[in-house]
Amino acid sequence: MTRAPIQILGAGLTGMSAAHHLGGDCEIHERLAAPGGHAITLQERGYRFDRTGHLLHLRDPDIRRWVEQLLPGRLIEVQRRSMVFSQGVYTRYPYQANTYGLPPTTAHECLMGFLQARERAARTPEPADFEQFCLKHFGDGFSRHFMIPYNQKLWGVHPREISPDWCSRFVPLPQLDDVIAGAVGLNDRELGYNRNFLYPRSGIAELSEALCASLPVAPRFEHAPRAIDHGRRVLHFDDGDVPYQRLISSAPLDRLVDLLQAPPAEVSRAAASLRCTPLWYLDVALERPSGIDMHWVYVPEARFPFYRVGCYSNFSAEMAPPGKACLYVELASRQQPDMDTLLPQVTAGLIEMGIIEAPGDIAFATPRRIDHAYVIYDHSYQASVAIIEAFLEQHGIISTGRYGGWNYSSMEDALIFGRQAAARAREQKP
Ligand SMILES: Cc1cc2nc3c(=O)[nH]c(=O)nc-3n(C[C@H](O)[C@H](O)[C@H](O)COP(=O)(O)OP(=O)(O)OC[C@H]3O[C@@H](n4cnc5c(N)ncnc54)[C@H](O)[C@@H]3O)c2cc1C
Repeated sequence: MTRAPIQILGAGLTGMSAAHHLGGDCEIHERLAAPGGHAITLQERGYRFDRTGHLLHLRDPDIRRWVEQLLPGRLIEVQRRSMVFSQGVYTRYPYQANTYGLPPTTAHECLMGFLQARERAARTPEPADFEQFCLKHFGDGFSRHFMIPYNQKLWGVHPREISPDWCSRFVPLPQLDDVIAGAVGLNDRELGYNRNFLYPRSGIAELSEALCASLPVAPRFEHAPRAIDHGRRVLHFDDGDVPYQRLISSAPLDRLVDLLQAPPAEVSRAAASLRCTPLWYLDVALERPSGIDMHWVYVPEARFPFYRVGCYSNFSAEMAPPGKACLYVELASRQQPDMDTLLPQVTAGLIEMGIIEAPGDIAFATPRRIDHAYVIYDHSYQASVAIIEAFLEQHGIISTGRYGGWNYSSMEDALIFGRQAAARAREQKP
């Protein structure tokens, strides 16, 4: 049988976008039984849960048009409603431009720290890590009350271990005006990269399913190679070998290297040094509407076992049965939760935040794990990825996507990575 010259690993958004842009002449192999990768929606007892919040921020006009064509009449356009909960009060997001409402001593510490940081900015060296980035741009108070504890909970490692490379796009840097206006409650300007988003009415899986149904070739599900002979350009599956001229892989980069047959030691070493934290979170079904009308809330304090709580049914009413609600609760600990201990702590936190009134409001809470959640941009990150990518390129392998390219990126990026990979695969000589 003649095989397509381009083989694709993974039917997440990256792999499916690559197949779409290739328009045929390719085959897709997906390890799991359904498309979507991280962009899926699970259903339990009439409630719908994504793999935590998956909102679409679309800036590329072609990608936006494409997504709208895939989901005609199904996308809700939503203005972000996000808050921070700390020291017993809600303040607006981002914390650094909204200190109004915080205890006055905290607000004072944040403002003074910010002003002092500005004053010494010209004499402060370029930050070598994310902690230094926070101290340089936000000052001591904002760093101590929000940036450091929140990011430690989110990434699962101290910001000192993270290089500042990733943050310029994702961390909103406030202007002096914003900080002052936000301190006196005058900030009516939403900051940050995710002010507006699109969301499919019945969850993000709608996008993955529509994209899959539109592909020129159907993915082969539950079909992952057990090894890759990169020298001969052959994928070894349990049911036979598949040769390729070019391979586009959206499998996590460290796992891809594990599949290669005897790669050079420096490539194995580089792959072994890549770090990525898993994530445990809870799907929480409520018997009644949530007590807050927000989309999600950031929770920086260490006394709460979670760092963010979001409400799917506030994105779209179709996510929960009428009169009920569903939440995601993202946990700070990377260990498998002991629900007997954890659930009472989570329940107490949700009651304190006014999201539920009593433990009986929770219909059920299911713990879930994402193996690869946050790639750690540590200090050896760039060099390691460069070594692996150079080697793969010599062998006709394009490793791309959030985990294939080993980065912190969005669903729109995944669709763009797929488009770029298709163009590169076409250009590369076998
Ligand atoms: C907690 C969390 C929250 C997020 N929130 C948002 C958000 O609000 N907005 C946003 O835009 N983005 C968000 N993202 C990012 C978004 O999920 C990803 O950018 C996007 O889904 C990545 O798509 P991908 O195809 O690159 O990777 P994946 O979704 O990981 O897809 C890779 C696919 O490859 C398959 N695979 C793996 N190994 C093999 C193999 N050996 N052979 C065959 N198949 C294989 C996997 O099963 C999977 O289906 C979030 C991510 C996380 C973790």
